[in-house]
Parts: sequence; C-alpha cells; structure tokens
Amino acid sequence: MIHSKPSKNIQKICNAKGISLTQKRQNIFHILLSSKIPLSAYDLTDVYKNKFETAMPTMSIYRILEFLTASGLVHKLESTNKYIACSHLQCDHEHSNAQFLICNSCSGVEEITLTSELHKQIETGAEQTGFKVESLQFELHGTCKACLNTH
Ligand SMILES: [Zn+2]
Ligand SMILES: [Zn+2]
Ligand SMILES: [Zn+2]
Repeated sequence: MIHSKPSKNIQKICNAKGISLTQKRQNIFHILLSSKIPLSAYDLTDVYKNKFETAMPTMSIYRILEFLTASGLVHKLESTNKYIACSHLQCDHEHSNAQFLICNSCSGVEEITLTSELHKQIETGAEQTGFKVESLQFELHGTCKACLNTH
C-alpha cells in the first residue's frame, strides 16, 4: 500500500491517535510533516532555529524525536540516522512494519508495506538459526521513479 502525504493538521492526527503533544513536540512534528526529505537531529536543530527564531539544543530534539518515534508519528531511518513523518497517519488500516524506499538521488523516501506473509517468512528464516528478531524494518536504497525519468 502506498499513500500520499497526509494533511498537515497535527491536531486532527493527534486527536485521532489519542496523543497530546507539547508545543515543542508539535513544532518538531510540524517540521517533519512539511519536509519532503528525511531530516537528522542536526538538520532539525537548524530548521527549528530558522523557523521558530529560537534555538533548541540538539539533545532536546533527540528526546522529542524518541517520543515521536515511540508514538508512531515519526519513523527513524536506521541506515541514514534521519527521521521522517509516517505516511499512514490518517489511515484506518493496521500499521504493520514499515519499509522504506530511499532515493540516493533526491533523498526522497517512500514508505511501503510488505505483506505479513513475507514478514513471517523472514522472521521464521531468522529464528531457524536461533536468532531473535526485534526489529523488522527494511531500508532499500536506490533511485525513485521521478529521478529515473529525469536522467
Ligand atoms: Zn508509518
Ligand atoms: Zn495507509
Ligand atoms: Zn529521487
């Protein structure tokens, strides 16, 4: 399933999820929702300063990112250490393990969902070696359709 970016109505998203965000958390979430590319904590530090005309320490931003990630509003891309707003914020369907297609050319990210059969298969394969899977997040690096078409 591929979904377009949800509307940027933070209040609506949070109400639906039963999450309440402090103003600072809302600000960080807003920056991520508005961004076309994933951002690192350092990127966010810069953007925050420019946008809200007040500096927030990177450590505080990390703590906020941890909260937003744990709430399921934001995903962390482990391979690039950057953060992106979830693409399924206003969907009714169950949010299974998210997979990410990361474009090496424009840094754009597409969030996709794989079938649960495929997850099961990978998990079973790992467990057969005695390995306990704790995170099933795939990050595929390549070139997106838009970039392929312009090259
Ligand atoms: Zn998501
Ligand atoms: Zn969805
Ligand atoms: Zn691209």
